[in-house]
Amino acid sequence: ARKRLLKLKKTPAVTKDGTPVKLMANIELPEDCAGALEAGANGVGLFRSEFLFMGRANVLGNALRIPSEDEQFEQYRKAVVAMKGRPVTIRTLDVGADKPLDPTEHTALNPALGLRAIRYCLAEPQLFLTQLRAILRASSYGKVRILIPMLAHAFEIDQTLSMLEQAKLQLREEGVKYDPDVEVGAMIEIPAAALALPMFVKRMDFLSIGTNDLIQYTLAIDRVDYEVAHLYNPLHPAVLMLIAQTIAIGQKAGLDVAVCGEMAGDTKLTRLLLGMGLREFSMHPAQLLSVKQEILNSDLSAITSRTRRILRSYEPDEIAAAVEQLQSL
Ligand code: PEP
Ligand code: MG
Repeated sequence: ARKRLLKLKKTPAVTKDGTPVKLMANIELPEDCAGALEAGANGVGLFRSEFLFMGRANVLGNALRIPSEDEQFEQYRKAVVAMKGRPVTIRTLDVGADKPLDPTEHTALNPALGLRAIRYCLAEPQLFLTQLRAILRASSYGKVRILIPMLAHAFEIDQTLSMLEQAKLQLREEGVKYDPDVEVGAMIEIPAAALALPMFVKRMDFLSIGTNDLIQYTLAIDRVDYEVAHLYNPLHPAVLMLIAQTIAIGQKAGLDVAVCGEMAGDTKLTRLLLGMGLREFSMHPAQLLSVKQEILNSDLSAITSRTRRILRSYEPDEIAAAVEQLQSL
């Protein structure tokens, strides 16, 4: 079966009725690009840049060494060059909660609700500016997109964009090259963001739905707490509603909308997401060819009407059964 999948590497991901779908890779380090290309990815949909920052405190517990602008630039550039012109979506630092920058540091009582991701970056402007400069510098080596995690407030978007402008201005004054048209997107992973989507659509170039956190925050289920893992349900009608709405409203406004959470790599959910209108999936490279196979065998017209019915249901058993039935279409 693996051999048959490998043959699909160069086959374009197109549904039976001819609709093209983008399949992107989630990576943690530039070295992961090899696996992404091996799986035939159309680009990197999520480069979790925090992995360049994590685990850098030394054994004596000395101060954490943040990678310098040059070190970061080198890593981002490596990924951009490796992807040979395909887009590389670099997510700015998403630390805190399940990804502590320094595990010995004080942790908040509710870290998932605390100073994480963009909140942390805006509280540490020097660190954020350094990262933005490094990403911008890498953007002159290929196609870079910047993705901002955990946005919920308009002022966070505005502050982020103004810091990006500041970074661009600095580079311009220093005569350093970057792509002036680099696209900036928001992770939609807080329910408030999904519910107030027009706030994002107005300000951003693209959207990427982080279903891992979106589920956690919608259902109030800690994503890393095994005691409540049985309640972590991607098919909860509230979760489906938020995802479907984000795709529909984002696309209507002309923005590309991707899903980059685990749901995008789950072949049991591929058709449901297609039915919601999703045309860009970003996942671990190991899942990519299986998802592609599912897409190649999918007929959108049948799936779309069934999905509409699923989205009107509030009965979990009915939803689960209908999603399973999509598989046999
Ligand atoms: C998500 O939240 O779905 C996501 C893709 O980001 P992470 O898992 O890194 O929080
Ligand atoms: Mg997330």
